[in-house]
Amino acid sequence: MDEIGENHIGTSAETPLRKDAFKLSDAEKIEKIEKNVYEIMQTLGLDLTDDSLKGTPKRVAKAYVNEIFGGLNPAKMPKASTFDNNYKYGEMLVEKNIIVYSTCEHHLLPIIGRAHVAYISNGKVIGLSKMNRIVEHFAKRPQVQERLTMQVVQAMQKALGTEDVACVIDAKHLCVNSRGIKDIESSTVTAEFGGKFKDKETKREFLDYIKLETPFN
Ligand SMILES: [Zn+2]
Repeated sequence: MDEIGENHIGTSAETPLRKDAFKLSDAEKIEKIEKNVYEIMQTLGLDLTDDSLKGTPKRVAKAYVNEIFGGLNPAKMPKASTFDNNYKYGEMLVEKNIIVYSTCEHHLLPIIGRAHVAYISNGKVIGLSKMNRIVEHFAKRPQVQERLTMQVVQAMQKALGTEDVACVIDAKHLCVNSRGIKDIESSTVTAEFGGKFKDKETKREFLDYIKLETPFN
């Protein structure tokens, strides 16, 4: 298992959660994690009576439960309300450069990058910001990038009632950039193409769009 983690291989498209994952309330989880972070820092020999450090266990616990890993809770899945495609727009819609802040589940270190998401409507359209929120929801979990990419596509497919969804993520993994092999330049690209996006031309069109530069100055 250690080998699997070190090589960044995920085991499933589903986030491996236990059945009792939500037995504790968020407040109970924060309290428990605070104690655990305190233990880690204590073990490292840090003086937790120091003014700068004493609030850290609580801050970390709150950040884990409410923010960094907030997307573990399916109840927090953004409502992906869709609308009828009244203007009969029939081409693909691409939202590119969605910022991704996630966490590598093998080292609990940041993954930072950009997601590019596209779909072709079969009658329904979705609000643009909802696409950001779907990416954000699944990013806020301990992740492997392959799974994150697939989860975004599956959630969009479900919301829109079509297979024709694609996602490309290009991200830096701090576990690779800052430790281990310390390769600051490398980034990882993952892609998931559903339905029509498996066709060579449609895929090409999507990949060409995400190369467009959009300067605002
Ligand atoms: Zn890692």
